[in-house]
Amino acid sequence: MRTVADLRKHIALWRKGEVRVGLVPTMGALHQGHMALVEAARTECARVVASIFVNPKQFAPTEDLGSYPRRELADLEMLQSASADLVFIPAVDEMYPPDFATLVRVDGLTEGLCGAHRAGHFDGVTTVVTKLLIQALSDIAYFGEKDYQQLMVVRRLARDLDLPVRIAGVPTVREADGLALSSRNVYLSAEERRIAPNLARVLRSVATALAIQPGAVARELAHGVRELREAGLEIDYLEIREEETLRPVTVSVAARSRVLAAVRLGNTRLIDNMPIR
Ligand code: AMP
Repeated sequence: MRTVADLRKHIALWRKGEVRVGLVPTMGALHQGHMALVEAARTECARVVASIFVNPKQFAPTEDLGSYPRRELADLEMLQSASADLVFIPAVDEMYPPDFATLVRVDGLTEGLCGAHRAGHFDGVTTVVTKLLIQALSDIAYFGEKDYQQLMVVRRLARDLDLPVRIAGVPTVREADGLALSSRNVYLSAEERRIAPNLARVLRSVATALAIQPGAVARELAHGVRELREAGLEIDYLEIREEETLRPVTVSVAARSRVLAAVRLGNTRLIDNMPIR
């Protein structure tokens, strides 16, 4: 489907049959991480809708909107083998007609971490996700823990706006060497691809150390920063946050928490996070 009207017509018919509908929003260039969301939806929902929309509003002018990988045919084949029932691929002006004037913004949760390094990014995300959730009116919408801050922000907006949808989080899918799958990994040169798994390795080592010694936050963060830099990764942030509230943890891990990081490797920005257990 390429229009909101067609999407609505199909989903309304399904809902008349009282079947549960799941939505998987993506920006395309699909990989096994996206497929894990489709599979999670498949297990809980009789009908699964995926959306593919490279949302211009969540890219800053300096970012990679123009070069973001687009592979519609390959994406459709993957979704077909994963038994998705419907794919929604709106054009930019279907989502944003020229006089589009509304912004959905979540305060607080969006201020640190990626929000501090990507001006306007989360406003773009929350605006498009709100539209997709209202367009599809699915029972459940699936988001990856890979973008952990995004998952928390989307949960908050759904709650704050009383959207009748459950936001489900799906664990991060990784390559054998630990690198989190990402559409942006195709940007990495062979040399960068060799360096990239150090991000997951360092996050895992910080998370493991803090699970054993919860009071060693400052020491472990300093150690993590050193290790990332030695591996050739330039750090946007490396932080410990409480899992539910995203409150910073600077001294000692008490509530369930995560270690989260964003780094730059050449022109590519990588993000990842791990639970401290
Ligand atoms: P994107 O197409 O990058 O906007 O991602 C669409 C959805 O897939 C988001 O909810 C992401 O968090 C999720 N996702 C991306 N990469 C992964 C991964 N490696 N594992 C699990 N979910 C992922």
